[in-house]
Amino acid sequence: MAEVLVFVDHVDGSVRKPTLELLTLARRLGDPVAVHLGAGADEAAPVLAEYGATRVLTADAPEFADYLVVPKVDAVQAAVAAVSPAAVLFPSSSDGKEIAARLALRLESGLITDAVDLTAGDEGPVATQSVFAAGYTTRSRITRGTPVITVKPNSTAPEAAPAAGAVEQLEVSFGELATGTKVVSRTPRASTGRPELTEAAIVVSGGRGVNGAENFALIEALADSLGAAVGASRAAVDAGWYPHASQVGQTGKTVSPQLYVAAGISGAIQHRAGMQTSKTIVAVNKDSEAPIFELVDFGVVGDLFTVVPALTDEVKNR
Ligand code: FAD
Repeated sequence: MAEVLVFVDHVDGSVRKPTLELLTLARRLGDPVAVHLGAGADEAAPVLAEYGATRVLTADAPEFADYLVVPKVDAVQAAVAAVSPAAVLFPSSSDGKEIAARLALRLESGLITDAVDLTAGDEGPVATQSVFAAGYTTRSRITRGTPVITVKPNSTAPEAAPAAGAVEQLEVSFGELATGTKVVSRTPRASTGRPELTEAAIVVSGGRGVNGAENFALIEALADSLGAAVGASRAAVDAGWYPHASQVGQTGKTVSPQLYVAAGISGAIQHRAGMQTSKTIVAVNKDSEAPIFELVDFGVVGDLFTVVPALTDEVKNR
């Protein structure tokens, strides 16, 4: 069976959820081979194996931590040369997309970014994308070179399928460009204790209806009861009620969680563009004519200041 390379997104060997999703999708295309760069391969390997990695190719070098993405491009290129895979999959993170783009250029391959689904086709993987502010769904196939595809987090639920996951050393030699851009400092963002917005399985977002920064405490309380990330509409962000990093939509982040709760959000096309591929959508809005109700699975017509705390209490009591 053909092998499919999966780039591992991890923090010191702690594998992030989008990688498990990639392994789940990769199994539709062939035998997944994980590419783990940096420290922690021994910790990561059992997890990668549990989700179907038949092999784990690993390399560790100071270059991976000290410089931006080019050393990783060198390493993935070495993995492609060693494996001759049927496809190379990356998470649609900023690093994932940059590595994918640089790799595709080097391989003279086609590139598809932000896929939301992958299927095996007779002539190679077929990727589904949601494009033009989610106005269209396209299905595309790469016709040149080794397909390089980035997949959005939460496009599928990770499913375990244990495989051997034998760790093998990957030989990497760095090119001239590898050390061209050095990391001079890293400042971790103050942690909210909540999951990262684009990776969260549940997102609770507030809009203009929340009516003030202080009232976002209601949205946060519901989010915390569900173990969710907090999002916001642009109106709420522009008003200074919530940070821009939390904006969902065309000019913000795209999320595709299992559950999206929109409170006090009208459902403008630009907001929908960032959330309408969510698996289940719930809206709380006092206007029964609000466009958000056109796309919800469950809608509550009511005042969020009553409904959201009631929902939080109900979740906490279960
Ligand atoms: P509104 O449209 O004002 O809706 C507020 C809603 O809250 C209303 O439906 C109202 O009925 C309801 N409400 C009020 N009080 C309550 C209450 N007490 N209880 C329950 N419901 C209540 N928007 C984004 O979100 N993300 C983007 O990335 C984005 N990018 C854009 C890019 C461009 C180029 C442009 C032109 C616009 C963009 N917008 C974006 C803005 C977008 O068009 C809307 O203006 C914005 O989404 C509206 O935010 P909102 O739904 O919170 O506010």
